[in-house]
Amino acid sequence: MKKEGPYVLFWFRRDLRLNENKGLYHALRSGKKVLPLFIFDDYILDPLPADDHRVYFIYRTLDAMQASLKEKGKVLLVRKGDPPEVFRQLLKQYTIETVVCNADHEPYGIERDEQVRIVLKEHGVGFQQYLDHLVMAKEEVLKSDQSPYHVFTPYSHRWKERLSDKHLAYHASEEMLSQLAGQRDAAFPALEELGLRKSTLQAPPLHVDESLIRDYHKNRDFPAKEGTSRLGVHLRFGTLSIRTLIKNAIQWNETFLNELIWREFYAMILWHYPQVVDQSFKSRYDRIEWLNDERQFSLWQKGQTGYPMVDAGMRQLSKTGYMHNRLRMVTASFLSKHLLIDWRWGEAWFGEKLFDYELSSNNGGWQWSAGTGCDAAPYFRIFNPMSQQKKFDPDTVFIRQWIPELDSLDYPMPVTDHARARERCLKAYRKALDNR
Ligand SMILES: Cc1cc2nc3c(=O)[nH]c(=O)nc-3n(C[C@H](O)[C@H](O)[C@H](O)COP(=O)(O)OP(=O)(O)OC[C@H]3O[C@@H](n4cnc5c(N)ncnc54)[C@H](O)[C@@H]3O)c2cc1C
Repeated sequence: MKKEGPYVLFWFRRDLRLNENKGLYHALRSGKKVLPLFIFDDYILDPLPADDHRVYFIYRTLDAMQASLKEKGKVLLVRKGDPPEVFRQLLKQYTIETVVCNADHEPYGIERDEQVRIVLKEHGVGFQQYLDHLVMAKEEVLKSDQSPYHVFTPYSHRWKERLSDKHLAYHASEEMLSQLAGQRDAAFPALEELGLRKSTLQAPPLHVDESLIRDYHKNRDFPAKEGTSRLGVHLRFGTLSIRTLIKNAIQWNETFLNELIWREFYAMILWHYPQVVDQSFKSRYDRIEWLNDERQFSLWQKGQTGYPMVDAGMRQLSKTGYMHNRLRMVTASFLSKHLLIDWRWGEAWFGEKLFDYELSSNNGGWQWSAGTGCDAAPYFRIFNPMSQQKKFDPDTVFIRQWIPELDSLDYPMPVTDHARARERCLKAYRKALDNR
């Protein structure tokens, strides 16, 4: 069989957009016809339910991209399987000179790309990667002794010093789509053909008002207000360009910009220290003797702890796939410190539920809350869920939205007493840290 080509192949992963896409732009500039590809990766899909909301979000995004490409007489190739094997098959069908994609900083992504690189090399095919989902590369923001920062504030200062026009350059990929290969017969698979089902959960919209970002610092801590962008899912899957958002943040709101830098900070930590995936950043904290009471864990998951601020957050998460940042901190601290349940249990639960689940930020947020991470809240700072409620939801507007039975006997008694839980936590942490 005569192979089609020669082509440059562009592989979409966590950058699901046609506009302002750095890797796609470079592929299109090659002067070769470009084949766009997405792979539903069995390794990622197999443990997930068929109606996983993130996977359905990906499917719908690809469907919309496909519709827009179709209008231009182009088609996105969609495959399912093990990426190295998918490439072996594609190389039989097409003559491919180079595969281009945007880099992934997660341990699995790095390993998968290494396997793909080996297959491509066997066939004499090049593999180029660009940094698109973050602004600063792994080695770009280092201390003067060239070691990685462990503390956010100096990292963020250095990040801002290093930022130049080059980091925020615009990549006119959408304007060059005519360079994509025209395809007539590549069918876009139906959801069922991929073994997937619709999810009832909807991702927050891609649009956010300028005024919300301008007032971000005033409103962001109050879950009853529409005070945060809810753009996490779009940054996770690259339906929004981080460069575009950062350009706006620089003009509109410094606090918002700092949050975007937190995202870069945790990505940098995971890149340099992949062991944080299953170990405490500060290894001494792995000596904590967690109680890991399964009944209490289940009450926490269901939002039945008897602490309204915790329960409202946990119910919001299960019902919508989203949880406000203030509540992420309160619920995570409550699980690890009040209930002495291993932060990894909670991290995994958030990983199942969050639309915007991002390994680096979730791990960073959990280790911060449990006090085990870099730049973490010190272990003796234990959020009091009732004081948090008074401060951030004083009129119980948010809480009542999620706990309609708040004033009735149906609402449970507290699963633990705050003062006693606090003492127990301090003892357990001190014991771990003193235990040499
Ligand atoms: C225990 C815990 C778990 C978390 N898990 C995740 C996660 O899986 N994915 C995730 O994106 N964020 C996570 N965060 C960080 C933060 O809670 C969310 O990014 C934020 O609540 C998302 O809502 P938003 O899009 O409205 O954010 P905004 O407040 O509008 O912020 C804009 C963007 O900045 C980034 N950002 C904001 N705060 C942080 C932060 N503290 N750390 C890293 N990035 C930040 C996110 O990309 C966010 O979308 C976690 C925090 C904690 C305490």
